[in-house]
Amino acid sequence: MIPVGSYFRLLTDYLRPQRAKVALLAVVLTGVIGLQLLNPQLIKQFIDAAVEDSDASQLIPIAVAFIVIAIAQQALAIWSTYLAEDIGWTATNLLRSDITEHTIRLDMGFHKGKSPGELIERIDGDVTSLSNFFSAMMIKVVANGALIIGILVMLARESWIVGLGVAVFTLLAMAVMTGLHQVAVPWWKAVRATSAETYGFVGEVVEGTEDITANGAAPYMNERFDDLHRKWLPQTVRAWMGWGIMWSTNIVLYGLSLTLVFALGAWLFGIGTLTIGSVYLVFHYTEMTRYPMDQIRNQLEDLQKASAAIDRVSELLAKRTQLKPEGDTPVPDGPLSVKFDRVDFAYTDGDGDSQEIVLHDVSFDIAPGRIVGLLGRTGSGKSTIARLITRLYEPQRGAVSLGGIVTWDARVEDFRRRVGMVTQDVQLFRASVRDNLTFFDATVPDEQIVEAIHRLELDGWLASLPDGLDTVLETGSGGLSAGQAQLLAFTRIFLEDPGIVVLDEASSRLDPTTEALIERAVDHLLEDRTGIIIAHRLGTVIRADDILILEDGRVVEYGERIALIGDPNSRFSQLLTTGMEEVLA
Ligand code: ATP
Ligand code: MG
Repeated sequence: MIPVGSYFRLLTDYLRPQRAKVALLAVVLTGVIGLQLLNPQLIKQFIDAAVEDSDASQLIPIAVAFIVIAIAQQALAIWSTYLAEDIGWTATNLLRSDITEHTIRLDMGFHKGKSPGELIERIDGDVTSLSNFFSAMMIKVVANGALIIGILVMLARESWIVGLGVAVFTLLAMAVMTGLHQVAVPWWKAVRATSAETYGFVGEVVEGTEDITANGAAPYMNERFDDLHRKWLPQTVRAWMGWGIMWSTNIVLYGLSLTLVFALGAWLFGIGTLTIGSVYLVFHYTEMTRYPMDQIRNQLEDLQKASAAIDRVSELLAKRTQLKPEGDTPVPDGPLSVKFDRVDFAYTDGDGDSQEIVLHDVSFDIAPGRIVGLLGRTGSGKSTIARLITRLYEPQRGAVSLGGIVTWDARVEDFRRRVGMVTQDVQLFRASVRDNLTFFDATVPDEQIVEAIHRLELDGWLASLPDGLDTVLETGSGGLSAGQAQLLAFTRIFLEDPGIVVLDEASSRLDPTTEALIERAVDHLLEDRTGIIIAHRLGTVIRADDILILEDGRVVEYGERIALIGDPNSRFSQLLTTGMEEVLA
């Protein structure tokens, strides 16, 4: 059965802001129903008057009234359709932005577990299939139910036998249709699930085109694409078959109902209970039950398509972020201290199940304005520390404090604004360099951007761009070299003016000129800020005040760089003598 309760909540939540329009729609629909019931009465009068051989002067007013009412009814019907669509789309747009907002606020663990295509299908595809659900699905069901009851009452007024006969038949027909509906619902669910899976797959493949092509995996991907379609097609055929069976059953039922009324009408006319006008009226009303029955059936069908979507949308909305609820302590200006207090961390998948522990009991305290070089083998947890500082994840145990404030005591946005991070692979957007630098914030004036570039001594880089700030980049690596992308990312952060800068250095090697540019830019970037530099080259850690070395998620050394150099037993001095690449790679 349809879980009316939960649907009703979703419905009322999103229709409440449009109460007035919904009420107007109800009024208009009542008008449409009233006029629909009224008009056949005029036909009956017309026929009976004509049979009695009255002159045309009596018939003309009836005919004119009939036409006026018919036109009015159509006008109201158009208006009601317009209103219903308007309500439906307003509600779905609201829902769409709510889900988007909700999803964005979920933690990184959730996002890693979902492919972009799947989320698009959820936020756009599923919600679109809900538009009719909101566009007065319930209202239409109620209105058409009312119309059918109205028709039955009108029929009973002509003859209670006919009224009763048609009522019983209608109930039976409804029962049959509802039964069929229940069989078909799971079939649609399967179709929607496979379609989401397919789009998820396509999104993933498109994103990885370069790797897939380079590794010759294209045939394999094609094969999987085929497999998905081989699953999708029969499911779709089955679902539409379900629809077809409902449709044809409906036609057969309609034929039976007309037969019933013809027989009853002929009999009642024969014994003189009904006039010829009444027989026509009965026939006409019975025929009229077909449209509302169709409508109800269509609505139920839409609901069966929508119910899977509703379930998934509700599930998504119910998904709670793994991040702790945030407080609203203001975050101070200027350089911020960074403190890890006995932090344990494991990545969790989308459902919150923990995997292997990545950080063990990590504690360190960085004073504001200090620059720390973070070293460690690949996989030792360096980038993970950076992600905890930007609060993409929450530690399972212990706490991270910035500027003396535990991260969850302040608003996520406030903290992220104060932390600038350059990741190992800089994400660029298919947009101008300007938009890439400002993250599409059009209020940042060009002078400010140029000034930032100048302060980072990157004027040469700017001059090398063919169209200056208007140069359009491609997505992904953006047609820039890794070094150039880093420079762009530095400028991005410089514009943000954060109190903490986290540089997760790309492990790729750069040409000496770019490297020199980067070195200078980093110096400027770190002026008067707390810096955490995740370094793969010794050259990069030369500027660090302190050195922190991680091994398998544990801090194995933390101290002043100069002091560590002076101590021949320190890991850092061993690194310096053996060469970092040999030890860390
Ligand atoms: P590198 O020098 O290669 O950048 P790293 O020190 O930055 O390495 P991390 O990225 O912090 O290493 O990874 C630490 C551990 O966490 C690794 O074992 C890695 O497999 C795991 N890990 C990293 N990201 C995720 C993720 N999103 N989900 C699950 N496990 C992850
Ligand atoms: Mg890393």
